[in-house]
Amino acid sequence: MNDTPPSAGAAPVTLRDQFGRGIEYLRISVTDRCNFRCTYCMPKEGLPWLPREEILDYEEIAEVVRQLAPLGLRRLRITGGEPTIRPGLATLVRLLRDTAHVEDIALSTNGVRLPELAPALREAGLDRVNMSADSLRPDRIVGIARRDLGFDPVRSLRAAEAAGLGPLKVNVVVMRGVNDDEVEDFARLTLDHPWHVRFIELMPVGEMRELTWEHVVPTDELLARLSRLGTLTPDAGPARGNGPARYHRLPGAVGTLGVITPMTHTYCGSCNRVRLTADGRLRTCLFGDHEVPLREALRRGEPLEPLFRRALAGKPEAHGLLQMQVGGLRALSQVGG
Ligand code: SAM
Ligand code: SF4
Repeated sequence: MNDTPPSAGAAPVTLRDQFGRGIEYLRISVTDRCNFRCTYCMPKEGLPWLPREEILDYEEIAEVVRQLAPLGLRRLRITGGEPTIRPGLATLVRLLRDTAHVEDIALSTNGVRLPELAPALREAGLDRVNMSADSLRPDRIVGIARRDLGFDPVRSLRAAEAAGLGPLKVNVVVMRGVNDDEVEDFARLTLDHPWHVRFIELMPVGEMRELTWEHVVPTDELLARLSRLGTLTPDAGPARGNGPARYHRLPGAVGTLGVITPMTHTYCGSCNRVRLTADGRLRTCLFGDHEVPLREALRRGEPLEPLFRRALAGKPEAHGLLQMQVGGLRALSQVGG
């Protein structure tokens, strides 16, 4: 493991939006492409991919982080698209690890390549992994992901665990009539594994041609179902990475159950995150078009702080997701969900 001390701690947060929310968390999308075609994320035929020359190289991504870190940034998440299909991802992890003030580097992945890549990513300085898994049944995995890549979620989680990439979080998008009959099986994983299984409410983004509002399972209904397995005790959840999830624990479980509720509850008031898209736009809200392009200034060698401040000045107070209709929003794979 690369244990070069990167920082003497986080810098004080000096980057605040117009509502006083300090920005200390950046989600970095390294690609808009993916080896899966999840029904809730992209159409079967894929999306119009970004041309390669528009995508930031690893050194450019690291430079954005180097300029944000002294303003209070301390936590990073590498995402996509599917980040593990971009060649040499460990090189980026190493560059980020060597950036002063960065305390935590996490990866969001569909898990397909984890058995192969986990040790090298850990060695480069990755701290932890969030892995998506919407089913534990091989035929159903292929149906939801629309690709047969031999993905075995438990094998991938074990590989990440063996490499030391914990605490491990497992993200399950719950869809009525598609995989909601497996929520109990996922919950039972936490009895024997120190994994944090998080159920995500389906969101009406991208081109979910095969999914409708009727596929959304409200979290209150989900929790009522899970509580039939045993009394759910509220829990602080994993020690690292405080996101929008609320956690519970089943009696005797070593892991926890989390719920992420973008549709029925909003958590915008405490939002401390911004996103960097693969083509170098700083987005201040997952939804809507609140973004400032950084790439040209970056390539001209100009300081980025004025652009960061301009972006933050436009960060909305809350997203309007609850008022929006299906089809009106970009896929999460395009914005670094
Ligand atoms: N490819 C990686 C993965 O699947 O984990 C990282 C990118 S993916 C866009 C990030 C997360 O967004 C995943 O947990 C995925 O399940 C979630 N996601 C994508 N589209 C969604 C939707 N329509 N509703 C809820 N969650 C969604
Ligand atoms: Fe790919 Fe992740 Fe979107 Fe699935 S959710 S298509 S794995 S980017």
